[in-house]
Amino acid sequence: MAFKERVFSGVQPTGNLHLGNYLGAIVKFVALQERYDCIYCVVDMHAITVWQEPAELAKTTREVTAAFLACGIDPKKHIIFNQSQVAEHAELAWVFNCVARLGWLNRMTQFKEKAGKDRENASVGLYVYPNLMAADILVYRATHVPVGEDQKQHLELSRDIAQKFNNDFSASINAHGYGDTFFPLPEPLIQGPATRVMSLRDGSKKMSKSDASDQSRINLTDDADAVALKIRRAKTDPHPLPSEEKGLEQRPEADNLVGIYAALQGVSKGQVLGQFGGGQFSAFKSALVDLAVAKLGPIGAEMKRLTQDPVYIDEVLANGAGRAQAIAADTMKAVKDIVGFVRR
Ligand code: ATP
Ligand code: MG
Repeated sequence: MAFKERVFSGVQPTGNLHLGNYLGAIVKFVALQERYDCIYCVVDMHAITVWQEPAELAKTTREVTAAFLACGIDPKKHIIFNQSQVAEHAELAWVFNCVARLGWLNRMTQFKEKAGKDRENASVGLYVYPNLMAADILVYRATHVPVGEDQKQHLELSRDIAQKFNNDFSASINAHGYGDTFFPLPEPLIQGPATRVMSLRDGSKKMSKSDASDQSRINLTDDADAVALKIRRAKTDPHPLPSEEKGLEQRPEADNLVGIYAALQGVSKGQVLGQFGGGQFSAFKSALVDLAVAKLGPIGAEMKRLTQDPVYIDEVLANGAGRAQAIAADTMKAVKDIVGFVRR
């Protein structure tokens, strides 16, 4: 069966949005508006899988919304909303809790990283996080999902869940007139040089909102001085930049900064090295500071302006939630019939 093409993706309101979120996800969200119907969600229910201060959660939810708007997502042509306003996400997630297997979730590396050593003390929600993510996507029967590299494994799990649902319930799906398959197998859209932006302090860790060190990331709201300081202090090695991409192997910090430059400028890493290869890091870092400030400055300023108008932000979210719910409710009616739940 051919599914209507639709894009879905989400960002957690867990802290300051950073360059990794921007280059790995939001830049793509913006570009995809031209070709698809898009649904972009502030996933507050995912956020509470680790502790969030209530007042802070509301503030960050509005900040992420402001970032979507400041980066150029159109809330009229597309849909922006926060997850908890559409209860169907949680409803479908429960069904998926009963479709996904323990063995599948046991393989998820994000749970291992976030739970750390004290696994017994992690929330149950953190463990089933990928099932909720599958519900987020599939409640809209979305076909394309732009995410950073770190979410690739979760997206594969979403496909496995969709497939198992389609198989387990195939007779019922057919009997209710939905043909052979009810859910599409959502495709990841992961491409470009900065799909995994690494921490500025440690080239083996991804840049994260939840990293304790603010020096590890460039926030979208950092001012020019902060950006400059963080890039100048970013960890590097003592060698000059190579002239070819192959020379970046085994040099994660250099590779990361070159990748960031390439993504911000919209060129390849090879082209960046063609310009800066053979030169000292300091000169390259200065150019990177200028580029980062030029690209992020206007976004940070617009975010600040928008967050001063929470009434407007809340209107955008409420309006988006209403339109999202209309789609999600149709999916849930069908799912209930397929599963055999008696409904009104
Ligand atoms: P947290 O630490 O709370 O998990 P996060 O920084 O990982 O926060 P998320 O809200 O989990 O951010 O992810 C939002 C989007 O940003 C996802 O598509 C994710 O793949 C992408 N993303 C997150 N970190 C990076 C990164 N370092 N490089 C590229 N993309 C990233
Ligand atoms: Mg994350």
